[in-house]
Amino acid sequence: VSKTKQQYICRTCGSVHPRWLGRCPDCGTWDSLEPQTLDASAGRDPQQGLAALPTAEAAARPLRLPDIDLAEVQRLPSGIGELDRVLGGGIVPGATALLGGHPGIGKSTLMLQAAGELAKAGKTVLYVSSEESPQQLRLRAERLGIHEDEHLYILADTNLARIVEAMRKLKPALSIIDSIQMIYKSDLGASPGSVSQLRRCVTELVYLAKLDGAACVLVGHVVKDGSLAGPKLAEHIVDVVLSFEGDRYHAHRIVRGIKNRFGSTLEIGLFEMTGQGLVEAPHAIGSAIEDWDQERPGTTVCPVLLGSRCALVELQALTATAFPGSAKRKAAGLDSNRLAMIVAVLEQHGGLRLADRDIFASSAGGFRIAEPAADLALALSLASAHLKKSLPPHTAVVGEVGLGGEVRAVPQLEQRLREAERLGAKLLVAPPQQGLPKNNRVQQVRSLGQALEVLR
Ligand SMILES: [Zn+2]
Repeated sequence: VSKTKQQYICRTCGSVHPRWLGRCPDCGTWDSLEPQTLDASAGRDPQQGLAALPTAEAAARPLRLPDIDLAEVQRLPSGIGELDRVLGGGIVPGATALLGGHPGIGKSTLMLQAAGELAKAGKTVLYVSSEESPQQLRLRAERLGIHEDEHLYILADTNLARIVEAMRKLKPALSIIDSIQMIYKSDLGASPGSVSQLRRCVTELVYLAKLDGAACVLVGHVVKDGSLAGPKLAEHIVDVVLSFEGDRYHAHRIVRGIKNRFGSTLEIGLFEMTGQGLVEAPHAIGSAIEDWDQERPGTTVCPVLLGSRCALVELQALTATAFPGSAKRKAAGLDSNRLAMIVAVLEQHGGLRLADRDIFASSAGGFRIAEPAADLALALSLASAHLKKSLPPHTAVVGEVGLGGEVRAVPQLEQRLREAERLGAKLLVAPPQQGLPKNNRVQQVRSLGQALEVLR
């Protein structure tokens, strides 16, 4: 009997367990653990099978520090400004990027548009599709306004060996693999979509990209049911990880940098999904600005920082009579712990009785807001909904709320004020802070109590 050790790896989160379990204890996904024999793929050289390449040896030669070329990283702009912003100016040749997101929100659309732009600029692009036929892709491309282009190649295949062969023949500046979870290497026993297949295929594509100095984008579906190995499992292998966010029922989309070996991860790309594909939307977010002149109890607008930019996001709250002893607290796009904290502060320092109320709070369109600077806007939304009072029209609110009910300073207040005014704000409710102009367009509040007085 062989003594090879077995372990189980979760397809969704990548956690490793010594024995099989019906449900992953780390991420809670059912039926997602997959057996792996420890020595099967761990020690294998990813260059195996690609070894006959002449460049492999030259790439491995050690260099003395002063001999290393300091030329700035060359980048390949995708031609889509909001995408290039997240990438730090463009895709780096030789690098592999992973674009993860939920199925159906537009990852393929974004990549096909980028492919079209690059092809238009005279770069050869190979688009490998495992989910659509070449006919379907051509129709989709035509809908997106990408017309026949001599530089854009489509390949409908899932076999890694054939894909690699096509890449070596065409020598594209960019290859797009949509989606990486469907690709398989035939000499590997595991089924497509498994952890071993995903890791092996990604490792080989990353290696090939480095060797050829060609960029590669891998599209990965984030699935919660554990049926496919998630893109998370490949994040440590690739150079750049981008997350594509938004939901299929709203028009806006965000591309967020999670990892970038060639730039910062602070920037965010903003898009809107339209009938003609994704349109760059560097300023507009949600419906915040549309009916700002109306008095709407429960609604506030907050200038939120997204990377180096500022955008106005609408926060909404609703309170309703709850069954005694079982009041609900639900947050969408907001941190639920933060919501619980704000509710407690409103009870203690705002004199509001919320214990027997169901409370719902959301950011418009499901935008994920993480910064504490949105605390005061959330608190005023809740108070406004509960008291059935509104803020004056065209009011933006910003400030962090402390446990003592005090309103605290926030970073980049001037930038937020400038952006809010540019988008039509007539009043900014904000913490007292250096650098704020003393005029009637800014209402400085030191405490939650003072902020509540702005409601009418
Ligand atoms: Zn898991």
